[in-house]
Amino acid sequence: MSMTGFNIEKIRADFPVLAQKVHNKPLVYFDNGATTQKPLAVIDVVNRYHSELNSSIHRGVHFLSDQATNAYENARREVQHYINAKESHEIIFTSGTTGSINMLAFSFGERYIRPGDEIIITEMEHHANIVPWQMLCERKGSKLKVIPFNDLGILQIEKLSELITEKTKLISVTHISNTLGTINPIREIINIAHRHNVPVMIDAAQSIQHARIDVQELDVDFLVFSGHKVYGPTGIGVVYGKEKYLEELPPYQGGGDMVDEVTFEKTSYNVLPFKFEAGTTNYIGAIGLSAALQYIEDIGIAKIAAYETEVLNYGTQQMEELGYIRIYGRSPQKASILCFGIEGVHMADAGMIFDKLGVAVRIGSHCAQPVWQHFGMTGALRASIALYNTKEEIDYLCKAIRQVKTMLG
Ligand code: PMP
Repeated sequence: MSMTGFNIEKIRADFPVLAQKVHNKPLVYFDNGATTQKPLAVIDVVNRYHSELNSSIHRGVHFLSDQATNAYENARREVQHYINAKESHEIIFTSGTTGSINMLAFSFGERYIRPGDEIIITEMEHHANIVPWQMLCERKGSKLKVIPFNDLGILQIEKLSELITEKTKLISVTHISNTLGTINPIREIINIAHRHNVPVMIDAAQSIQHARIDVQELDVDFLVFSGHKVYGPTGIGVVYGKEKYLEELPPYQGGGDMVDEVTFEKTSYNVLPFKFEAGTTNYIGAIGLSAALQYIEDIGIAKIAAYETEVLNYGTQQMEELGYIRIYGRSPQKASILCFGIEGVHMADAGMIFDKLGVAVRIGSHCAQPVWQHFGMTGALRASIALYNTKEEIDYLCKAIRQVKTMLG
């Protein structure tokens, strides 16, 4: 049990992958920012649907199709409930955060963006929240503007009001940075944006698993996340959008299920949410995602956040005590991500030795090259914490760092 009363042994037993050895060493998995492991609750439901209930949704008139359709639509309601959306048809299933942002960049762009218009993002975005907007800007002759962060990794929110003009059509911001760990003041950003009648999209890829999100309370216009980062399957993600916007946006992809009537002269589109779900969707992924969200709800997101903060703070303190670690991202509002460099050691060499010791961390830019351009570097090591990580694993990581330093530094 930890200080926060978290039964870590029980939780770890829910994740079979954690019990294995890697290079003959117990696996210490600190690559959760990239993807999280799956609990039995998710594995079992995905297995069950593949082995007993698989059938294409929305189309069949038979038993299996009915069962799968019901489970898929229940999954949509679970997501609705989890983020407290007003309507279930405000939940669109996609392939992941990247798929979600590309969908919005296309559909929002087609509907609202004209030459000369402006979209604001931040300096700490993942490439998935940069490139689709850049591509849109290239298509439409519009402009991307950037809110900078300071050397602590804190967003310079005071600059936002200066950046917003009459031409600003959207602000798209990450809730939690996947490199700096910064928890951005999204409520404040949304309030400022709305005072100028500008809608806001929140990239919740790194926050859906760490923080309570209530889209109505936030009054956020769009929110996106991936299933695989919240203990669910890969290949499934979500766009939440306010009904008033989703009704106005044109569809992203054309094909089966997103249509009402098709003739060679003209096609009319299906109602929400199906208008945005062309083709055979990843319905088993959605059902698995729903099981993952229920798993989190059973434990309680507040408990998870408190526990992870305890492990993060312990990790920060232990690394600082080593005396030769530089941590990137020192915001007091921070979650679950520890990006760091070891003085005198190249990250790739360190990563290789960590791997031999059974420790999975990530090295590189973490798909956020502008963050490292800010610091004049190419990347860093990243240990990212999930609900099943322990202080003992932090100790083991620090021991591995000491070994690396002795060998290479
Ligand atoms: N945004 C953020 C903040 C992320 O951390 C990631 C994944 N690293 C993404 C977007 C992209 O997510 P996905 O690869 O699941 O589409």
